[in-house]
Amino acid sequence: MGVGGGYLMKQADAKRKDDHVIFGAEKKKMVDSQYSIPMGIFFSVFFSVVYYLLTSWREKIRNSTPLHVVTMTEMAAIITFLASCVYLLGFFGMSFVQATPEEEEEEEDTVKSGVELVKQVVEEVETIVSSQEDEEVIQAVVSGKTPSYSLESKLGDCKRAAFIRRVALERITGKSLDGLPLEGLDYESILGQCCEMPVGYVQIPVGIAGPLLLDGKEFSVPMATTEGCLVASTNRGFKAIHISGGATSILLKDGMTRAPVVRFATARRAADLKFFLEEPLNFETIASVFNKSSRFGRLQTVRCAIAGKNLYIRFTCSTGDAMGMNMVSKGVQNVLEYLQSDFPDMDVIGISGNYCSDKKPAAVNWIEGRGKSVVCEAIIPEEVVKKVLKTDVASLVELNMLKNLTGSAMAGALGGFNAHASNIVSAVYLATGQDPAQNVESSHCITMMEAVNDGRDLHVSVTMPSIEVGTVGGGTQLASQSACLNLLGVKGANKDSPGGNARQLAKVVAASVLAGELSLMSAIAAGQLVNSHMKYNRSNKDASAKP
Ligand code: ADP
Repeated sequence: MGVGGGYLMKQADAKRKDDHVIFGAEKKKMVDSQYSIPMGIFFSVFFSVVYYLLTSWREKIRNSTPLHVVTMTEMAAIITFLASCVYLLGFFGMSFVQATPEEEEEEEDTVKSGVELVKQVVEEVETIVSSQEDEEVIQAVVSGKTPSYSLESKLGDCKRAAFIRRVALERITGKSLDGLPLEGLDYESILGQCCEMPVGYVQIPVGIAGPLLLDGKEFSVPMATTEGCLVASTNRGFKAIHISGGATSILLKDGMTRAPVVRFATARRAADLKFFLEEPLNFETIASVFNKSSRFGRLQTVRCAIAGKNLYIRFTCSTGDAMGMNMVSKGVQNVLEYLQSDFPDMDVIGISGNYCSDKKPAAVNWIEGRGKSVVCEAIIPEEVVKKVLKTDVASLVELNMLKNLTGSAMAGALGGFNAHASNIVSAVYLATGQDPAQNVESSHCITMMEAVNDGRDLHVSVTMPSIEVGTVGGGTQLASQSACLNLLGVKGANKDSPGGNARQLAKVVAASVLAGELSLMSAIAAGQLVNSHMKYNRSNKDASAKP
């Protein structure tokens, strides 16, 4: 076949296609006009019936009437519903079966838009029904008929519970919660673990400082804070440390504590229990009872303190990658039950007797440690101190001695021999899902600065005896906090070496504090330099100002 033959074939094809298009369009018009009136009736009947059935089922659920008990009207509604479904299928199905290939696309579009329309209207009907239901629940909460705390269990939908509680709260207080977001949080993930009676969540920006070069590895450190300059300042510290060859950290201890208080009739009996618990021969038995509580909790030590006839027993145990408060408490519970048989006169006053000591400044944590005890150090050459930190070694050493050591001693500080450890601890804790209240003892820190290498370079260290962190449990499994842990490479349980992730996180916290200390102390030292500079130059200035 020649070129001309092919052209004619193509023309014929094109005409056929045109015919199909024209025929399809006419047919569509015909179908449209033919079906527009019945379709209108169909949609009215269909959605009225759906609405009627949904509202009557809602009433039944509310009145605890079984759904299978059907009235005559409901039966009629169901039959109408089925008939309309058959009609719907017939309408779209017929057109679909008869369609030519060219028409198929158009018919598909018609079917799709029909289905979408049906979906949209069903969604709207559902929204009307559910917003009516929501309104009733909101009113029940406002009137006090439904307790706000019971919404999650009653509705079985945590996000809806939060929404209803929030609207009810706005009505009760007359205050708007606009600005406190509701969307964007997985409310199921906080149920029974992180927060009760949620109405939204507070947004805290997360900044990134780094890279931190620690023990030969680089980390990008997430910090959640609303304090301007904090991330930038820590970042400057990281830069100084990085250029100087990095920081080194050493984990000194790893053990979470819990100390119940028990009471006896006499101090003699309290002392008997103290001697029993501190007797090395009894340790194995006590440890085996304690360790039954968890695969990860392993009893390390038991230390006692007596106040009259009251005994405070401080149990310390390793807790794997968990911060460990739940774990250690369960172990303590086991031991107290076990002791009750040998010491039936022992009266357990409280599982926590504050000698633990959790979320309160206490010398026991400062001296004995709690959680992870870490020391972290770096040597910053004098040119880095000058170029990056804009100060000099002698000024830093002097400021550290007068501020962090002597000043804090004068203030009667307890673990507060630092410039702002808690700033960094809090920001990293918030970003990584730690318990922010443990910032109290986790921020215990002594910052040391010394001139080394013939007084040219700076040796800086932070010693932090009670960093309480975990990478499993609590807030660590929430999506955003978990993403920050992932960034640090310490998300979840460490499979190869249980506890490895939590220990690494503690070291990162200490190294971040080191950077924060370096940077803030330098800023203060530089400010002092500026002030002294102005002071010593004033006479010149004054002299030049003379007429
Ligand atoms: P906490 O004791 O810090 O309050 P949780 O009790 O909430 O923490 O979480 C610890 C849970 O995680 C325990 O049930 C423990 O068995 C489990 N778990 C899984 N892997 C680890 C791990 N590597 N280290 C510690 N706990 C782990």
